[in-house]
Amino acid sequence: MPFTRLDEKHKRSIRKLISPDRFSDGESHCNLHARDQSFHPPCPPDAVVWPKTAEEVSQILAYANTHGIPIVGWGSGSSLEGNPIPVCGGVILDFSEMNQILDIREADFQVVVQPGLVYQDLNHALRHTGLFFPPDPGARATIGGMIANNASGTRTVYYGSTKDYVLRLKVVMANGDIVEIGGRSAKSSSGYNLNQLFIGSEGTLGIIVEATLRLTGTPEDFSAVIATFPSVESAGKAVFEIRRSGLSPAALELLGPECIELFNIQADLGLTVSPTLFIEFHGASKAYMAEMIDICRMICEENGSEQFEAGLGRQERDRLFEARHDLGEMIVRNHPGCAILVMDVAVPPSAYPEMIGFARREIAKSGLTGYVFSHAGDGNLHLNIAGETGNTDHWQVIDAMVLRIVNNALSLGGTATGEHGVGIGKRKFMEAEHGRSLELMKRIKNLFDPKGILNPGKIFPEDP
Ligand SMILES: Cc1cc2nc3c(=O)[nH]c(=O)nc-3n(C[C@H](O)[C@H](O)[C@H](O)COP(=O)(O)OP(=O)(O)OC[C@H]3O[C@@H](n4cnc5c(N)ncnc54)[C@H](O)[C@@H]3O)c2cc1C
Repeated sequence: MPFTRLDEKHKRSIRKLISPDRFSDGESHCNLHARDQSFHPPCPPDAVVWPKTAEEVSQILAYANTHGIPIVGWGSGSSLEGNPIPVCGGVILDFSEMNQILDIREADFQVVVQPGLVYQDLNHALRHTGLFFPPDPGARATIGGMIANNASGTRTVYYGSTKDYVLRLKVVMANGDIVEIGGRSAKSSSGYNLNQLFIGSEGTLGIIVEATLRLTGTPEDFSAVIATFPSVESAGKAVFEIRRSGLSPAALELLGPECIELFNIQADLGLTVSPTLFIEFHGASKAYMAEMIDICRMICEENGSEQFEAGLGRQERDRLFEARHDLGEMIVRNHPGCAILVMDVAVPPSAYPEMIGFARREIAKSGLTGYVFSHAGDGNLHLNIAGETGNTDHWQVIDAMVLRIVNNALSLGGTATGEHGVGIGKRKFMEAEHGRSLELMKRIKNLFDPKGILNPGKIFPEDP
């Protein structure tokens, strides 16, 4: 169905639903909401609105639904797959004015928040409670954006991803109905788990206006390790063996030598340039962690580790993880005039060494520069490939390589996207990954949003 573009009449009507200073169709505001952090081309919305209440969101959606106007939620715009780009125009709902903590329920290990709250700000506010919200995508992401993308991070291997922390949601449906789903008990077997439908739905099923999140205890202590290996494949094998041994690292990150080189140049880390594992353990006592590190050392050495440096201090560990979080930016800075394609396939643990070997061979064959790094403990491989902007030869090579890598991940029982979401770029893999269950997803979308106004052009291959 063709969507309605906002004319002056629609703009006047939407302005009346909120205070006029929280509506803008100005070029600079629209351009600021035209792109996320991906290489996908920008596309400005017709207008941006900054809602303050669930009721305002409800009224805007009811109006948009009646008139066939696209609505796209916006957190920080830090997505890596074009997820919030308003490819069909319409209205962006920017949640930066709905960024409050509504209730800290310390005794229940829970917090009630608005969707525009940035997760680092949440953890800062919680610092005196001994509790925290573990998913950590690294960018300054909002809770709404993290729920909509089911974001993960470096500590997902131990703590889980966003989906493991959502207890209750308040959602505005496409027609403006406000619905509360889930509950505050730690467990429930009651009915369908609707929370999980909205988590990872990229704003295509409803707009999240409030969330009750589970929190967890801040660990008493931590211990960090760096281990280097002669090859990425041997490091990958060590990852598998660490997981198989029953050890529970809180982070298990693998970095190709090209990433370590970048760390040394841009963050002055002075590391040995080799395939490297960053490993972190969290625990209640030093003795417990020392035992875990001994086993980890043994496994790494059995898999050819050349250097194993344990017991890093807090400052050094923070510098390592800061550099790890900045790696995407470092790669961009290292390639002026290029766009960076970011892949995030994930495979079952046993297939991880094979997957990483396959990806590296593909890069070598392509003659382009690629960076392999990964949330290895989750079998989640990141591959960032630099291609000159406007160089069609580069982008043909990259497209073909992406296709082969994703097909390989799928043939190993994996997924095209471990954490960044489908957005625009992964739509073409949906059929191969989901087969007939994609039809069920389409029916659910149709039930929740029959006019297709919520973030059109995402997830489904045939969308505009
Ligand atoms: C340097 C860098 C590193 C990153 N590392 C990771 C990583 O390790 N792991 C990871 O998972 N991700 C990572 N990301 C990606 C990104 O940070 C996450 O996907 C994050 O969840 C996006 O949050 P956001 O607030 O920026 O949301 P946005 O990008 O603004 O939006 C994300 C999606 O949510 C929808 N949305 C936003 N708010 C709402 C709402 N209230 N209701 C319904 N839908 C809504 C949008 O329409 C869009 O589809 C990284 C990004 C960068 C730039």
